[in-house]
Amino acid sequence: MNRPDRKQALGRLLGPAVPEIGCDECFEELDRYVELELAGADADAAIPGLRAHLDGCPACREEHESLRALVGGDQAL
Ligand SMILES: [Zn+2]
Repeated sequence: MNRPDRKQALGRLLGPAVPEIGCDECFEELDRYVELELAGADADAAIPGLRAHLDGCPACREEHESLRALVGGDQAL
């Protein structure tokens, strides 16, 4: 059986080319990300992949939340 649609299906599965970042990169960029967020800038466009990492990584998500509270104070709440 020929499955000519297989490659396309795989492409769809992988989705758009968002760079995957790891915890180290996430940690390095987190300061900047939070500052952009609190400034009302498009932090996700500036640092692609970080939001996706936060969604999938509870440790970094927690770090992100405490950093937001630290940097933003009342503004973050
Ligand atoms: Zn992480």
